[in-house]
Amino acid sequence: METLAILVAAGRGERLAADRPKAFVELAGEAMLLRAARAFEEADVVDGVVVVVPEAESVLTRTLLEPISKLTRIIPGGATRQESVRAGLAAAPPDFRGVVLVHDAARPLVDAGLIEAVWRAARDHGAAVPLLPLVDTVKRVRDGVVVETLDRDELGAAQTPQGFRRELLERAFAEAERSGAVLTDEAMAVERLGFGVVVVPGTPRNRKLTTPADLEWAEHVLATGGEAR
Ligand code: C5P
Repeated sequence: METLAILVAAGRGERLAADRPKAFVELAGEAMLLRAARAFEEADVVDGVVVVVPEAESVLTRTLLEPISKLTRIIPGGATRQESVRAGLAAAPPDFRGVVLVHDAARPLVDAGLIEAVWRAARDHGAAVPLLPLVDTVKRVRDGVVVETLDRDELGAAQTPQGFRRELLERAFAEAERSGAVLTDEAMAVERLGFGVVVVPGTPRNRKLTTPADLEWAEHVLATGGEAR
């Protein structure tokens, strides 16, 4: 095995106010987790898929992901995203030396093209993150007052999948843990080592679905087959 995807789906998704964990909420009749997993199934470069879900959903997950032939493990998640990723990483085969792709199940409109672009950059450079340029002017604010306006050309919004050589990601996580760093994505752990994380263009379609309005947007994109904005 050369490339392993870790799909994190253990969040509760409280902002969606649904009757089930977010990854199991349906989008045009199909659970987000299945949609996301299918993109990795379709990406030729991916050999195996580990999914991290709330413990209570393990049995349901096995049934749901029946069509995913690359599914290798279903792992119970942790209290935070960081812990869930760590649990997924620990499930990689001990001798695995390849690329790990960490992806939020809450981004079910990811496609094989983006997965392969991240994979290629991670294979060649060790670490890669998809980034979307910002359209708004961004301010740094303290106590309700603007402190400064940041240079938008130097900023971007990070998406997933984020790709890393396994050894690098594990070293980065170990260091983050040692220093008690709270990570909001995996690239951040690798940046902390001083390692250059290469940027690939993200896609508007690959938005993280957080609120009911995001779900409506995604339903619309799927229904019209149109380009996402
Ligand atoms: O909460 P947030 O939207 O940032 O979650 C991003 C992704 O991380 C989601 O796919 C969610 O299921 C996952 N997650 C997780 N374990 C947690 C919290 C979030 O796997 N404890």
